[in-house]
Amino acid sequence: MEQLHAQSANVTVVSQERWCYPDLCNPYNCKPDPECRPHGCRPSRLNEDYQLLKPATFAWLEITPSCTLKCKHCYVASMPGLGHGKMKFEDWICVLDHLHEHGCATIQFIGGEPTIHPHFCELVEYAAQLSFQIEVYSNLTGITSRMWSLFVEHDVHLACSFYSDDATIHDEITDTQGSFDKTLANIKRALTVGLTLRVGMINMQKGQRITEGMALLQSLGVSNVGFDRIRGVGRGSAIAPEDPVDALCGACANGKCAITATGEVYPCVFARSFPVGNVLNQKMSDILQCSALVATREMFTKAFEARQVI
Ligand code: SF4
Repeated sequence: MEQLHAQSANVTVVSQERWCYPDLCNPYNCKPDPECRPHGCRPSRLNEDYQLLKPATFAWLEITPSCTLKCKHCYVASMPGLGHGKMKFEDWICVLDHLHEHGCATIQFIGGEPTIHPHFCELVEYAAQLSFQIEVYSNLTGITSRMWSLFVEHDVHLACSFYSDDATIHDEITDTQGSFDKTLANIKRALTVGLTLRVGMINMQKGQRITEGMALLQSLGVSNVGFDRIRGVGRGSAIAPEDPVDALCGACANGKCAITATGEVYPCVFARSFPVGNVLNQKMSDILQCSALVATREMFTKAFEARQVI
């Protein structure tokens, strides 16, 4: 523990009052406990070791391996019909509770396609009750009326990938005819209803018309357009094979974690060669303290420094 403490010198130790959320008292998330703080609705799980945690300030919740598309480069090799993994609704609620208790402020629902999870809306509602800033990374091909209402009500941010201004090229990359039209229509709708939206363009192949795609997005009013290369993870590894650490962008060494539909925890959604625990048989607090996570983050940090990405 002393070793962990030394390695976590920049951990912010939050006062115990931080864990009391009187405004959130309601039957859904209240767990009466003799150790509740005054006015608090939540039992404290703080203990003397808590300060040794490396907090997760951001978490990806990869709630399903299934998707409506079959993109050539998909980092989880997603496609339709893969089910929704081993994590039950209650397990995801527990993950949200633990992340909240550990000071995590921002989560991203991702998949696969998160909106096809049967409890997607309930999970968004629960996360909103816990005051998380929520982002949904979706292919935006199937957003229902209920989802639009939820997104607006809870100021949910949206993110999606986009490949070209040419529908044929876009649909070829997603391996799904008609995906361009659906995604573009919902990009427009997200802007119309005033949601925060960011769009990532991924450089896949020659002649992709990336510049024209970016220009199209900007002409529609998308102000946050990112750009990335194929990462050598999942189906992307067949197109652009690379070392598992080289595939990482350099942002996952500190304060982030990803939980998948099998309960596996990784330092990042792309760091799938580096599992550090499983929430189905370990407590989140134990995973966040475990030597595997600390050692992996140290190894990443050294590699990123060598690449001068941090
Ligand atoms: S939309 Fe995302 S999750 Fe679905 S296949 Fe494409 S890259 Fe994979």
